[in-house]
Amino acid sequence: MTPTRVLVLNSGSSSVKYQLIDMADRSRLAVGLAERIGEETSALHHEPLAGGGGKRERHGRLADHDAALEAVAEELAADGMGLDSPELAVIGHRVVHGGLKLTVPTLVDDAVLKEIERLIPVAPLHNPANVTGIRTAQRLRPDLPQVAVFDTAFHSAMPEHAARYAIDVETADAHRVRRYGFHGTSHAYVSRKAAELLGKDPSEVNLIVLHLGNGASASAVRGGRCEDTSMGLTPLEGLVMGTRSGDIDPAVVFHLGRVAGMSMDEVDELLNKRSGLLGLCGDNDMRQIRRRMAEGDAAARLAFDIYIHRLKKYIGAYYAVLGTVDAVVFTAGVGENSAPVREAAVAGLEELGLAVDGELNAAGGKEARLISPSYARVKVAVVPTDEELEIAEQSYALVASR
Ligand code: ADP
Repeated sequence: MTPTRVLVLNSGSSSVKYQLIDMADRSRLAVGLAERIGEETSALHHEPLAGGGGKRERHGRLADHDAALEAVAEELAADGMGLDSPELAVIGHRVVHGGLKLTVPTLVDDAVLKEIERLIPVAPLHNPANVTGIRTAQRLRPDLPQVAVFDTAFHSAMPEHAARYAIDVETADAHRVRRYGFHGTSHAYVSRKAAELLGKDPSEVNLIVLHLGNGASASAVRGGRCEDTSMGLTPLEGLVMGTRSGDIDPAVVFHLGRVAGMSMDEVDELLNKRSGLLGLCGDNDMRQIRRRMAEGDAAARLAFDIYIHRLKKYIGAYYAVLGTVDAVVFTAGVGENSAPVREAAVAGLEELGLAVDGELNAAGGKEARLISPSYARVKVAVVPTDEELEIAEQSYALVASR
């Protein structure tokens, strides 16, 4: 029997998300989340999707990622799908930062782990958790291949003129300061699916992909390759996000240090955790912002307008970068679900060939779909992202090709 199952692990700083996927039919066998790792209030939410069973919860401290993954392994084992199962082909890990060297899905060995560790200074929140996740998985199943799939990989094709900041080259190179981009697994998956929706090969289409979740990023994709993306050295640059500022004059940092006496860490925390929609109006959930707008709340309105203004600037910029655009594609929590955001982002861009059909936009649905009227020169599409499936596909393809 050829093993066909892939366990996808997404280890965050205090959480582990996982999915067990059978690549024979791309079905989900189990999904779950361990959260608040390290706190007294840790919880594990586990849902077996094959064979009924129903959701299960565990509460109580999970001391670290090791403990969390062991708990996950126990839950899977209780469903007869444990890590020792001969049907398990590979464990696929989402790794946030692969830097300049790790640009394709990679079989993990000691050298690869060392490189992911070496990149911790540029991804201090994520790469340590990713390393721990891999080490624990290796300990639990030493004989099983582990594949790392990098969030930065899709963007490694960016030309140098998009990837470099205009700062002193020696300083930049000494400290690996450049634009890496993130959400790459999503941008790759969504741009491929969007080409499919247009009935074309990815190599034939130019796309602007807008991944609008709690974190948000835009990318300009020419013929399946990333030409530019809005996140940079870290996921702070670019669009207005749930709690992150996105683009800002870097001198704001010096100003807050000198005038407000804030430390580097305080400014870091401000820009990453107390900015964006949350900083502007006290809410970072687009649904809540829309509810408040309906009640005439001025702060929510302004936050929405700032969010849309930034989005429009990126659509315009990437239109210019690409020259010709086949489609603008919305994905992730906000992009897939918020018709008002899609409508507002495209409003007034008719001269660029862009338009949204009110009915199609409002219709909703879980499938990839076009929401532009048939006359629109540039299509507008909604394509649900599926980062876990993409990680599973890439991990499985790598072990199947060995
Ligand atoms: P993450 O970046 O955490 O993976 P998601 O892609 O799941 O985020 O997006 C989460 C965000 O999506 C929420 O914070 C919320 O703003 C937005 N969202 C989810 N559902 C809706 C909806 N029905 N309408 C508007 N916004 C939504």
